[in-house]
Amino acid sequence: MNKRVLITGAAGFLGSHLCDKFINEGDFVIGMDNLITGDLKNIEHLFKNPDFDFYHHDVSKFVHVAGDLDYILHFASPASPIDYLKIPIQTLKVGSLGTHNLLGLAKEKNARIMIASTSEIYGDPLVHPQTEEYYGNVNTIGPRGVYDEAKRFQESITMAYHRFHGVETRIARIFNTYGPRMRLNDGRVIPAFMGQALRGEDLTVFGDGSQTRSFCYVDDEIDGLFKLLISDYAYPINIGNPNEITILQFAEEIIKLTGTNQKIIYKPLPTDDPLQRQPDITKAKEILNWEPKISRSKGMKRTFEYFKNLTSEELLKSEHKDFSNHIRK
Ligand code: UDP
Repeated sequence: MNKRVLITGAAGFLGSHLCDKFINEGDFVIGMDNLITGDLKNIEHLFKNPDFDFYHHDVSKFVHVAGDLDYILHFASPASPIDYLKIPIQTLKVGSLGTHNLLGLAKEKNARIMIASTSEIYGDPLVHPQTEEYYGNVNTIGPRGVYDEAKRFQESITMAYHRFHGVETRIARIFNTYGPRMRLNDGRVIPAFMGQALRGEDLTVFGDGSQTRSFCYVDDEIDGLFKLLISDYAYPINIGNPNEITILQFAEEIIKLTGTNQKIIYKPLPTDDPLQRQPDITKAKEILNWEPKISRSKGMKRTFEYFKNLTSEELLKSEHKDFSNHIRK
């Protein structure tokens, strides 16, 4: 049975990959994005598809969608620490007001809703690796607090709609994910290092580089998210790759991969930058029968190919393309 699926943040990194996934499943996809951090280039290839529709809309405002909906995937949000600094209020609003609007829509349409939660709800974690039972260590008033607390509120209101209104809800705690369509200038570590290598700049490691992250390739992440959506599990679940690495080792890997002659330089560690992060994915393995399959070396090669091509495209000023015929306001 084909589904009608609303995907918010459709022009973003994960949102656009989710659009592809559901289109490939034979479903009808309604994408929605306010394009603050998203880029229409990520979904340009879908505009010709009769099973794809796009609305230029900010989900922090009332959301109306005509017709039935089977699934709602709420993936709209700035997702990079430099974005939270630039647009803190929008970050808070999309995670709180936006989620409220979409839960209301899910209730109205009798649709199942999956929300994009995050490893950031664990803050700078005191439990390692992070299990879903860990409550987290978040600085409410720090620069990242606008994202972390919006996402924590998002989980609370989602569970409230589940318990009080009986809405079918799914909560994915997404850990660092990478791959094609990340924004070259979004400040996150992979586009930052790859952009620097491509421009012939030194790689900027923040702090001494001993902080750790665990990176999941986007195809694995999308597979895990899809399995969660179609499961019957309503509680939060970690979806990420447990393969942990220090940022310094990671910079060295990128220098090798890109063949750049640049060196590593050190910059101050941003406030509240978590020192360690690694998902415990026991639940995802047991409940969803999911675990990541793509190695970092393979994923990083594919990602670098994307950034290499993008740089030459960007020189051609691809943002001059006019997509206005395809957008509903
Ligand atoms: N980082 C870095 N250099 C950069 C960008 C990021 O060393 O140019 C570090 C950052 O301090 C953090 C890690 O890389 O420890 C991952 O940062 P990112 O912004 O990708 O995501 P986060 O996991 O912190 O949300």
